[in-house]
Amino acid sequence: MSMSETNVTAPSDFIRDIIREDLRTNKYGGRVHTRFPPEPNGYLHIGHAKSICLNFGIAEEFGGLCNLRFDDTNPTKEEVEYVESIKEDVRWLGFDWGDRLFYASDYFEQLYEYAIQLIKKGKAYVCDLSPEEIREYRGTLTVPGRESPYRNRSVEENLDLFQRMRAGEFPEGSRTLRAKIDMAHPNVLMRDPVMYRIIHAEHHRTGNKWCIYPMYDFTHCLSDSIEGITHSICTLEFENNRALYDWFLDELGVYHPQQIEFARLNLSYTVLSKRILLQLVNRGYVSGWDDPRMPTISGLRRRGYTPEAIRNFCDLIGVAKANSVVDIELLEHCIRQDLNKRAPRVFGVLRPLKVIIDNYPEDLVEEMECINNPEDPSAGTRRVPFSRVLYIEKDDFREDPPKKWFRLAPGREVRLRYAYYVTCVDVIKNERGEVVELHCTYDPATRGGWAPDGRKVQGTLHWVSAAHALDAEVRLYDRLFLKPNPLDVEEGQDFTANLNPNSLEVLTGCRVEPSLAGAVPGSRYQFERQGYFCVDPDSTADRLVFNLTATLRDTWAKIEQAQQ
Ligand code: ATP
Ligand code: MG
Repeated sequence: MSMSETNVTAPSDFIRDIIREDLRTNKYGGRVHTRFPPEPNGYLHIGHAKSICLNFGIAEEFGGLCNLRFDDTNPTKEEVEYVESIKEDVRWLGFDWGDRLFYASDYFEQLYEYAIQLIKKGKAYVCDLSPEEIREYRGTLTVPGRESPYRNRSVEENLDLFQRMRAGEFPEGSRTLRAKIDMAHPNVLMRDPVMYRIIHAEHHRTGNKWCIYPMYDFTHCLSDSIEGITHSICTLEFENNRALYDWFLDELGVYHPQQIEFARLNLSYTVLSKRILLQLVNRGYVSGWDDPRMPTISGLRRRGYTPEAIRNFCDLIGVAKANSVVDIELLEHCIRQDLNKRAPRVFGVLRPLKVIIDNYPEDLVEEMECINNPEDPSAGTRRVPFSRVLYIEKDDFREDPPKKWFRLAPGREVRLRYAYYVTCVDVIKNERGEVVELHCTYDPATRGGWAPDGRKVQGTLHWVSAAHALDAEVRLYDRLFLKPNPLDVEEGQDFTANLNPNSLEVLTGCRVEPSLAGAVPGSRYQFERQGYFCVDPDSTADRLVFNLTATLRDTWAKIEQAQQ
């Protein structure tokens, strides 16, 4: 398969193979029911997109259902802001949970009943060890754990203590409810894991109703069971947790979904850990969760990424069982490929240099017809005003050009795209010797940018009319981190040592063509010869703000060409 194929139809991978087989053997009565289960403790990132595309995608392909479930078991780290952003991001990616929006906190009462059942079966006990002691008693991979002195409390005593834990009689951290499994189990997660802890904190949904909160491992598998999930798809780190999930489900004798683990997405030059992303936000290294340099869905959206490009990326990377690192260039390739087809071309001058066409009439304004998208004839044309005073890109002029310089220089003729051939006749400098203005002449016979005598020029430049252009701010972005693995640091350093100090460059005084007046935030364009840009929500009525989505340089496409 070519990496440049946009529509990857009917993806195939080991998870879909399992589902096809389960359908064939009628394992779940023909049902396919998945879920995307985020913890609302941060914004979603591109790694979550992989999981969203997988879970919602599978449901769509197999005529099944996918739930959105918030795994909200930790009242101290979770916020309504995160819940709202997650819903917005899943919807924006193009997925729909219908009427199946759930919260693990909706199941707190049911989970409590399950805990009581386990206590009654002699499979759970209230433990008075402190969190530190529990850790110490747990042992290590090579050393078996030790049994808690509270492990053999009677069922009656456990029931009484657990009910009093719920009633709020005990201070935070003083007691836990633990599963009674095996302190010498080779899988450390099976060494009497904590099921409930006391936290006297308000929960974003249940308020002050509870002061005991179920642990993730206890909650997660039972939430899947309650919702009748058939295929509980999760990342590889949860492989060891599966034994514990099986234990809870089997001891309780409830409906048992099948867990399938896949490799999480890792991206070069990118951190995909909410803990670290939160630090980037809280320590002010970025402007927020939606900073266009962030790998969050909201950051990518603000940067100008489309849901289609992200979904296509997720299809291309596929799902596998072994961890690997995906090249960030592939993600960039996906957005370029998408925007190439749909982004209208416009003229935007990032670093303006004034050009005066000496022989062009003082008050003449011509409307030049420009093609909106050469990749899409149906996009039509637009008219861009041309006049005597223009701006071109500073970089497009060299007073003392090197060999093979095809742009403007003293005495050189170039094409102003869709307009005229012009020749540089004079260079004006300021007192510091910097070029501040060029004088050119134009050839009236070359209107539209073509010479009737067949005379060729090697350079074609973009331009705007000084009197008509709009003022703009352009934010140029580079990678947030300097190293392919941002977490690869020297001892004593943290990830901030690898931050790229030049990841943001703000250009003010940029000039863009007047057709961009009123461009709404989120609109995407290709500035000819520069890259793809997206209007930022910071734009105001009299000043547009653009974010660089991607440059035009596509290394991935080059690698692909070379391989063919
Ligand atoms: P983080 O490690 O960034 O804190 P998390 O796994 O704790 O992420 P959750 O909110 O629990 O975040 O994740 C919701 C779902 O998204 C889980 O099913 C998880 O497996 C999946 N997920 C998270 N990160 C990735 C990733 N990098 N690639 C694929 N799936 C991911
Ligand atoms: Mg998690």
